[in-house]
Amino acid sequence: MKWRIRMSTKGFNHKFRYEYCKIKNFILYYPKTLRATDRLMIEIRTRKGYDINIVGMPSHNLETLEKPASVALLPERIPFVKPRLKVKVDDPVKVGSPVFEDKRNSQLVFLSPGGGRIAKIDYGPRRVIKEIVIALDQDEGYETFPLISEAQLEGMERKKLVKTIMTGGLWPLFRELPFRDIPSPDVVPPSIIVSLNSREPFQPVPEVYLNDKVDLFEFGIKILNQLTETLFISSSPGNNFVPNRLNTHVTHTCEGVYPADDPGVLLYHIKKNPDENRSWYINGQDVLLLAMLFKTGKYPVDRTVVLGGSLAKEKKHFQTRMGVPLNHITKGRADDNGTARYVVGGIFKGYSEPEDSYMGFYETSLLLIPEGDEKEFLGFARPGYKKPSRSKAFLSVFNPSALPLDCNRHGEDRACVNCGFCAEVCPVDILPQFTYKSIIADEIEEALGHGLLDCVECGLCTYVCPSKVELSEVLKNTKKAYYLEQL
Ligand code: SF4
Ligand code: SF4
Repeated sequence: MKWRIRMSTKGFNHKFRYEYCKIKNFILYYPKTLRATDRLMIEIRTRKGYDINIVGMPSHNLETLEKPASVALLPERIPFVKPRLKVKVDDPVKVGSPVFEDKRNSQLVFLSPGGGRIAKIDYGPRRVIKEIVIALDQDEGYETFPLISEAQLEGMERKKLVKTIMTGGLWPLFRELPFRDIPSPDVVPPSIIVSLNSREPFQPVPEVYLNDKVDLFEFGIKILNQLTETLFISSSPGNNFVPNRLNTHVTHTCEGVYPADDPGVLLYHIKKNPDENRSWYINGQDVLLLAMLFKTGKYPVDRTVVLGGSLAKEKKHFQTRMGVPLNHITKGRADDNGTARYVVGGIFKGYSEPEDSYMGFYETSLLLIPEGDEKEFLGFARPGYKKPSRSKAFLSVFNPSALPLDCNRHGEDRACVNCGFCAEVCPVDILPQFTYKSIIADEIEEALGHGLLDCVECGLCTYVCPSKVELSEVLKNTKKAYYLEQL
């Protein structure tokens, strides 16, 4: 039998709150047996958020890229980690050799995504390690790790399992909410959330990255079940990407616009007590890597990435490897004459990088969009039929087609005009404008009271703000500073 429970986040009157809590209690009083045996599936429908419709969405076609000449690790892009190098320039490395460790916990090691020699170590301001480049050999050597069968996994102690994942370099795939740091190996999480989809339009989709890998994914799920009592697997409703066999593992479907399926949003809707705030999450694609480590005894470097954006000639998925150079993905596929902005990590949360940079440890998305720095003649008088905007100030509100997006901010910074757009889209019901103002006034307690720690760093509030207030960045940095102070 399959149980379905519907939850909606529409409205916030008392009646709703009461029903909502009752449903929450129901879910939490019947946690494991129903999910495992009766296939309890909870459908969550979120009403807040925003779906952007811009040109350059990647197709579901998959192309396998040839081997690049080099790969890299970007320690600067891994939040909170303080790297201590274990290699120097010209050292030989194999795939899976330790390259650096975290000074906070020397067991947390980051392994080489390629076999060859260390070609370059680039430092930024204050000697921050930006890039460790590995020139690849024709025949790469591999470090070996223990092979673990399903039978061995079942009888394995948690401590030994954690150690195996840590020495195999995959512990950083886990992130702990709400700060999104890599969790301590000594802590048992209240739950682990696996998010299969992302409503972010430029992320790999499970139809592609899970294709033919259902067995591996199921093995990965078994590993996660050894790490936690409560495993949540969320997916978009109506997914037809996997056979029913895999759908039986899905515990939640998240319906709604971006970022409905962010693990932080899911947790916001299902958590019952504050302890659950420290749940962990892992991306669907990364579950495959855990399984590969155990099944092959090698550090898995495969990644499915997407290339998109209006200046990408081929907008699709690519099978390649971790730390691949950006210009290896775009070679012959960019339509930009060197003028595109390279955005790594997604349209709302990504960052811009020079084209000779590399994909980071967590990144699977590359966007090429115009800088948009040329002056618009009589721009203020134009009706804006093709300007993507959430406000109804432009005629684009009547234009249902995908619109071109560039990096032009279309206006100067202004003071907040209290339009409330940011609050209308915030998926976790923070009032971003008031939280921001509390932070600026140094009233951190007040910001926490507004729900600062629930912020899932989706970037939507910044995108919709007509006054160009950098809400998301300020909230994210404040969360980070608060976390570091707690540590
Ligand atoms: S406050 Fe946080 S969760 Fe809300 S829209 Fe902004 S970034 Fe997203
Ligand atoms: S969207 Fe911008 S201008 Fe409007 S209330 Fe939020 S911060 Fe203020």
